[in-house]
Amino acid sequence: MKVVLVCSSLFILLLAYLFITFINQEDSGGNTINQEKEQGDMTTTPTTRILLAIAHPDDECMFFSPTLEYYQSIQGEESIVHVVCLSNGNADGLGKIREKELVNSCRCYGVARDHVAVVNDTNLPDGMDKDWDVTVISKYIQKYVDQWGITQILTFDHGGVSGHPNHISVSNGVKLYLKNNTKVKGYELESVNIIRKYIGIGDVFFSKWIFSSYDRLYTAYKLFGKNFEAMKQHASQLVWFRYLFVLFSRYSYCNTLVEIKQD
Ligand SMILES: [Zn+2]
Repeated sequence: MKVVLVCSSLFILLLAYLFITFINQEDSGGNTINQEKEQGDMTTTPTTRILLAIAHPDDECMFFSPTLEYYQSIQGEESIVHVVCLSNGNADGLGKIREKELVNSCRCYGVARDHVAVVNDTNLPDGMDKDWDVTVISKYIQKYVDQWGITQILTFDHGGVSGHPNHISVSNGVKLYLKNNTKVKGYELESVNIIRKYIGIGDVFFSKWIFSSYDRLYTAYKLFGKNFEAMKQHASQLVWFRYLFVLFSRYSYCNTLVEIKQD
């Protein structure tokens, strides 16, 4: 029985490897399939500067890894990606350690130390039962957009991927900022139902060919790639189920983003 299970697991992993290799094959135009779904005004130009707004150290590699991989692959000598983390994840008193872990994780994606900011504000305490003041978040977004000359912001959507109130607050804070600053574009990471969330690489298939109502699709470049490398930098958070999350989460293999439109 055990032999059958091991053989089945190896076979599934082999299929997954072949699948992700297939979707990253070069097309006839020399482009990999890991790219933006549409071009036009979403094309990255030399003046594009991206701000990834997250709530906690490790959100970047747990949820946005395929996106960060994509930008690492296209950026020149200077990273176009900047990261602002609206808390240092101090719920267990490990905030200072987690700040350093975030910097090291971002480095895996080619994001330099001076492109990473961690907010440590008592108005934005890390916690599952803490809603954050969106006006405070909006002010920090304003600060870093101005400081880095940001043209596009990426963040969570209304579901926050996991429903975490801090993620949702960041999404709402970014939307408040965008409402008053229409020159900056925003894109939100789609939250999906629990089945799609945990079918791992299988959701690349659903995202590409069935549920394709997003504006951008980014897929991981290889199995067990950057997300594992980056997650290992978060040593203070590495409990066994984190590895399971990385293995089975669709966010390890694909990100779908939707443009934030103002009503
Ligand atoms: Zn988080």
